[in-house]
Amino acid sequence: MTSHVTLYGDLPLYINGGPHASTTEQWIEVTNPADQSLLARAPKATAEEVELAVRTAHDAYLLWREVPAPERARVMFNYQHLLKVHHDELATLLAQETGKNFADAKGDVWRGIEVVEQACGIASQTMGETMGNVARRVDGHSWVQPLGVCVGITPFNFPAMIPLWMFPLAVACGNGFVLKPSEQDPLTPMRLAELFTEAGAPAGILSVIHGGAEQVDAILIHPDVKAVSFVGSARVGAHVYRTATENLKRAQCFVGAKNHMVIMPDANKGQVLSNLVGAGVGAAGQRCMAISVAVFVGSARDWIPELAEAFAAVRPGVWDDPQAAYGPLISPEARVRVENLIEAGKQEGAECLLDGTLCEVAGYPVGNWVGPTLFRGVTAQMGLYRQEIFGPVLCCMEVDSLDEALALINSNPYGNGTSIFTSCGAAARTFRHEVAVGQVGINVPIPVPLPFFSFTGWRGSFYGDLHAYGKQAVRFYTETKTVTERWFDEDIPTGPNMTISLR
Ligand code: NAD
Repeated sequence: MTSHVTLYGDLPLYINGGPHASTTEQWIEVTNPADQSLLARAPKATAEEVELAVRTAHDAYLLWREVPAPERARVMFNYQHLLKVHHDELATLLAQETGKNFADAKGDVWRGIEVVEQACGIASQTMGETMGNVARRVDGHSWVQPLGVCVGITPFNFPAMIPLWMFPLAVACGNGFVLKPSEQDPLTPMRLAELFTEAGAPAGILSVIHGGAEQVDAILIHPDVKAVSFVGSARVGAHVYRTATENLKRAQCFVGAKNHMVIMPDANKGQVLSNLVGAGVGAAGQRCMAISVAVFVGSARDWIPELAEAFAAVRPGVWDDPQAAYGPLISPEARVRVENLIEAGKQEGAECLLDGTLCEVAGYPVGNWVGPTLFRGVTAQMGLYRQEIFGPVLCCMEVDSLDEALALINSNPYGNGTSIFTSCGAAARTFRHEVAVGQVGINVPIPVPLPFFSFTGWRGSFYGDLHAYGKQAVRFYTETKTVTERWFDEDIPTGPNMTISLR
């Protein structure tokens, strides 16, 4: 199988509605994770270029905020249409730079399109509230207004979906936006920006700057930036949250995860095994909602050998191989990290039922391959359990009761996603009510909410209060103004009111 890839050369930044050639001397190589060949180079934006991106977004916002919400919504309708027209093209680009298989790459784009669909309804989502006669002859009402410039800092693992969690809604609300996508796969976000302009978004309202820590820090402290959305690792997320809030900006940071799936003995075995394979190793385990821990309750533990057989039947491959279950990890560093964690797990005494470290894909000897890996006998003290692996590695744990499973999950520092597989409504209800995790699946392994809800990670998986997309994101990207209003036609009261009450 030969993987088809295109060379894209040196990328520009995207500023003021079009490509902007960087004057930087520092470039980041974007490589094909299946063979390390160079796909493109991304510039590390200079301080002046970051400044220009924020300034043009701010200038565009001053005009855009006066554009009526139904007109802003029409841009989103156009954008939704264009994303669908270009769905295959975007997925091809995305698959080449991430290594995801084509079907999964299409899913990455699709879950972003769904958020654009939510942005199409922005007019009704940004209506204020009114109440007549809040005091005698006094009326109260509220207005929802944009903030100014918002920024998004995004990770490598969903280069379409996660930028689309952010800028369409922020812009639909009337803001300007600066996106700093992952330096590991910046091609897809650039194409998203071009299509946004083609859809009718005004020049400057969305800028894309490339780079890493230095560029992020420059936007975090910029006085014209009002709100920061971040998705990425816990270490960087903590830094972004602290820096943004220290600089008196609102921030929402979606970070690492360790997602458990509880398997009750009354669950449907076939459904459990196939869902564990897909949720455990799909996208090479590089999903923040991937299942990384399977908690078998009671006699469900007897299914582990069959799970090992199902895992062994899965093989990775290049993006355009229709038989490949998943692709390579994003970088050689990521592969080495995952291999080291697997090795440490063996040293710690976990039983490795299937070891993916020596995985090979014919024709791609230097790809970042890790085969499906399965451990059992994992304990809560092991590094294999405590750290986010972000690879195609599933840890099996065994407990005697649902209460024990809940105690395990609720004492893990992360709280992004979890699921239970059972045929018992009472067990499902107990789990749903008591689990301290923000996104819960019941016989659904990866419960990523649709955009009319919000993406609601909890505890160590999220810093902030208002979450991504849905009503919460509309609140995050807007400010509420309340007006208290009185008009007289006669009986104008005289003399000062020395109290706080209205009269
Ligand atoms: P990362 O933290 O390395 O990078 C995320 C972004 O931060 C990138 O744009 C990167 O350029 C920037 N960055 C990197 N180092 C920085 C620094 N020192 N200062 C400022 N900015 C910096 O994350 P990643 O490896 O791209 O993505 C994988 C991580 O993202 C995993 O931990 C995964 O769980 C998490 N993730 C979480 C969610 C969620 O919704 N909770 C979703 C997707 C991914």
